[in-house]
Amino acid sequence: MKVELRGITKRFPGVTANEDVDLSVSSGEVLALLGENGAGKSTLMNVLYGLYHAEEGEILLDGEPVTFESPADALAAGIGMVHQHFMLVPVFTVNENLMLGNEVTRGPLGKLDFEASRERIVELSRRYNLAVDPDALVENLPVGVQQRAEILKALYRDADLLILDEPTAVLTPSEVTELEGIISALAEAGKAIILITHKLGEVMRVASRIAVLRRGRVVGETRPEDTDEQHLAEMMVGHAVKLVVDKTEAAPAEVVLSVDGLSVRDDRGFVAVDDLDFEVRSGEILAIAGVQGNGQTELVESLCGLRTPLTGVVTLDGADVTGAPPGDLFRLGLGHVPEDRQNDGLVGPFPVADNMVLNTFNWEGFASGPVRDRDAVHDNATRLSEEFDVRTPSVDTPAGTLSGGNQQKVIVAREFTHAQRLLIAAQPTRGLDVGSIQYIHARIVAIRDAGAAVLVVSAELDEVLALADRVAVMSEGRFVGMLEGDRIDRNTIGLLMAGHATEEAR
Ligand code: ADP
Ligand code: MG
Repeated sequence: MKVELRGITKRFPGVTANEDVDLSVSSGEVLALLGENGAGKSTLMNVLYGLYHAEEGEILLDGEPVTFESPADALAAGIGMVHQHFMLVPVFTVNENLMLGNEVTRGPLGKLDFEASRERIVELSRRYNLAVDPDALVENLPVGVQQRAEILKALYRDADLLILDEPTAVLTPSEVTELEGIISALAEAGKAIILITHKLGEVMRVASRIAVLRRGRVVGETRPEDTDEQHLAEMMVGHAVKLVVDKTEAAPAEVVLSVDGLSVRDDRGFVAVDDLDFEVRSGEILAIAGVQGNGQTELVESLCGLRTPLTGVVTLDGADVTGAPPGDLFRLGLGHVPEDRQNDGLVGPFPVADNMVLNTFNWEGFASGPVRDRDAVHDNATRLSEEFDVRTPSVDTPAGTLSGGNQQKVIVAREFTHAQRLLIAAQPTRGLDVGSIQYIHARIVAIRDAGAAVLVVSAELDEVLALADRVAVMSEGRFVGMLEGDRIDRNTIGLLMAGHATEEAR
């Protein structure tokens, strides 16, 4: 199978998302599609998948022009897509999800044949090494397994070309390694793959070919053997980039955040944070490393007023703020970048401008009494968009239509500006491109140097290593290691994350 895009141009009101794009992929190839947030990668793939219609250009399948009116047409032609945000129905089993829209029936009454479908799933799982229990409820599956179910869903529909839109953005390091293996195996089995990712290491490991998009245009094509990460980063952003943050030695001063005997329950009532004690000082960055799901979410929520602790005391600049509501904490100088940007960070249908004052809209400067100062809100958003390089047609655009990375920049812009005393940032750069990551990291260091205490929670080892003055490794609700200075090292953190106690860490 060979799929070609020729001269594709796709416009949205105010933006040309794709301009005159030529691209092709054949069976057995892994084509990596790179580009900054907002470069037009998802849009291009949505055109190929029949979700969007291009204003210009054509799609050829084995040399023949084809038109896809909808994803159903693309699927019928053997093109499957796994989206950036998963689309499975949480309350259905894997089997039910895979049958949805593709029902296997038997008998004259067309009864659903769950057994036949289950067998097919088991066979596909085995053939492509995609372990998934067909009878598990999707909502109970870890993210990595949900994603395997999404891939299975495309294979279940006989996709010959699989489009994976940032599949590793939400995965743990070991899930990423597994997925890389799956991608290579699929290509070896003769599938064509288009892989969108920001992780340059991953591209170097699995791609057979690399195409780079910048502001909607293809600016270059290369192969892993002819390039390196530095060069790829420069192709993406169009100028030289530094892949490491400049950071001087920390100068920790007074204690800002103090946590004493904190325990927190998760949604199911289990103890997710188990009797934690720690401090974060002004002028230092404490990074919490760990595989997701080890209590980090509950810890952050309890520190930000979103979850009531079971026991323990939290103080901010000496004041007891245990269980204080978010509004009070923001007044005391907390900035919080939540891990779930879509649900906790933004109101998608609201304009960018309103999202930038989501927790300060009633503060002096943006309102007098009950009356909003629209000009001030607008000016604030224009200034922040420029400063944080938020790519949006205007500050009146609904935030939910921005690309994932630009949505994150809206949140970061808002929260960083009022993190006067304490910044709590959970997965602050998840899904962002190298240029944006570098920028956000530099800002986090600047916030530290301005005298705030910084708590970064990250499942990304590179991020922890780039930012941390101290590293706490979290496992099953506890800190299993606290590393400082020379003891902060990839290997030690990795081992602790995987649940191995090391001599080093004691
Ligand atoms: P990427 O996937 O490379 O991060 P996208 O394809 O999501 O980028 O976005 C490319 C551009 O098109 C961005 O400027 C984005 O704001 C815009 N865009 C994407 N989808 C829509 C939409 N449904 N409506 C309006 N603008 C959109
Ligand atoms: Mg995208």
